[in-house]
Amino acid sequence: MKRKRKQGRIPEVLWRIYGNRARTLVETVIDLLPKPPVSSSDKCRCKGIGCLGCNGSDPKGFLLRQSDPKDYFNLLTRSFAVVSDKAPRVQSFSFDVRWTQEQVVKKTIEMIIGNNQNVICNGYNLRQCNQSNKVLDLLTTSTWSLFHDRIGNELMVHLFKFVSIFLPFACGNHYQVSGYPINELCPKFSREAPVSTSQHHLPQPSGNQVNDLHSTF
Ligand SMILES: [Zn+2]
Ligand SMILES: [Zn+2]
Repeated sequence: MKRKRKQGRIPEVLWRIYGNRARTLVETVIDLLPKPPVSSSDKCRCKGIGCLGCNGSDPKGFLLRQSDPKDYFNLLTRSFAVVSDKAPRVQSFSFDVRWTQEQVVKKTIEMIIGNNQNVICNGYNLRQCNQSNKVLDLLTTSTWSLFHDRIGNELMVHLFKFVSIFLPFACGNHYQVSGYPINELCPKFSREAPVSTSQHHLPQPSGNQVNDLHSTF
């Protein structure tokens, strides 16, 4: 059985596991912003420069602009994200891009390594200085640096610590780069493989109800 998938529609496998908690990355970021937004940029911690935190009436227009590269647009609109139940609320938005994106990723990993099950730590070794790690490579592209410029350190760290992010991958699959491992929620996933959003959970010839596995999540 084949189903049509519109761009931006939640892949079926993510829908079955997370329900309506699975959203596009851009929707998730907007949802995380403190409400109500800061009334004017002069009162904002960006001191009038203008940032995501004081662009309350149009955060989507701040995040996605006409002139943005296609890869960036795809990152925000074709990646999916699920905020953890345990995530604290973002109380105030402070815009700060002092760190590079690579520093953000490494500092986040160093904050949570050992005390948190988060795929961002996969294959990361604190003692090794030259890291080669697939997740690190995926999260430090120029596309992610632009995303970092728009949302700042604090929100980026929050995303990596508390949000499961699934990047679009080859053949309609998605690849999890942060958050609680999806393979812990569903035994059908292997540890390293991308999330197959095209094959997983299609009706089995034997008629087994694999979907029932997810009734508790
Ligand atoms: Zn601001
Ligand atoms: Zn499953």
